[in-house]
Amino acid sequence: EIGYINGEFVSLNEKVIPIDERGHQFGDGVYEVIRIYDGKPFMMEEHLERLINSAKAIRLPITESVDDFKSLIMKAVEKSELHNCNVYLQITRGIATRQHLFPNVPASISMTVREANPLSDEMRNTGVTAITHEDERWANCYIKSLNLLPNILAKQVAHEAGCFEAILVRDGYVTEGTSSNMFIVKNGAVYTTPLSKHILPGITRIAVKEIANPLQINFYEEHFTEDQLMSAEEIFMTSTTAEVLPIVRVNDKPIGHGVPGEVTKKLYEQFKRKVETL
Ligand code: PMP
Repeated sequence: EIGYINGEFVSLNEKVIPIDERGHQFGDGVYEVIRIYDGKPFMMEEHLERLINSAKAIRLPITESVDDFKSLIMKAVEKSELHNCNVYLQITRGIATRQHLFPNVPASISMTVREANPLSDEMRNTGVTAITHEDERWANCYIKSLNLLPNILAKQVAHEAGCFEAILVRDGYVTEGTSSNMFIVKNGAVYTTPLSKHILPGITRIAVKEIANPLQINFYEEHFTEDQLMSAEEIFMTSTTAEVLPIVRVNDKPIGHGVPGEVTKKLYEQFKRKVETL
């Protein structure tokens, strides 16, 4: 594993951030998590485009191009000597004496590269459980910002209820998970919340949308309510680290037959094939 901060590779426990760092003090920054499979990045271009969009959305100027980030990431991966790992990349508004207004200083860029510890086969085969939770986040959840307080609070509530994820609900409609996009299956077709400012445009969500087509699974981007969630045939979530993961119980009630469904399984198998052909 390895760390990187503002031009230097460092060990992960080295003390490198000054107290007056805006990521640390304000959460004034954006980030990405990119999965490397067998030395090869998964949909890195899409991740970097989203990073640049997030930075623009918070008016954080960055001088690096997508290609600059690509080579920086691959250099870090090489130095880490890891083949299956997660790259965490963060950009903040830099280091300046604490005050709210934008400082006129360079952005801080930092990275960690850590071994990926994939979910257990058991979790994949039996599926995971979830709770529903009020979506208490702000109006701009399409930005992958460092401000994750409502996400971590909801995830902790889920954990304390013995569940893996909290499914967020805004005005009666499902938005997404605390760190995942959410999908239901109805009459064999897949439904997921349409893109808006209220959800993160997930990269794995794009992958699933692409995969559904050759499998001849209909894919609809439509809002669905908490009731529709509970009466779905199947539920699954997607994220860079969870990939395509079945959710078999919500609020202690079984979804469908309470086991991973056929559509979810097919999509996951196809997702694995996509990874194998990177
Ligand atoms: N929504 C939220 C709130 C997330 O934090 C994540 C994980 N980054 C996702 C969705 C899934 O996005 P991706 O597939 O790009 O990892």
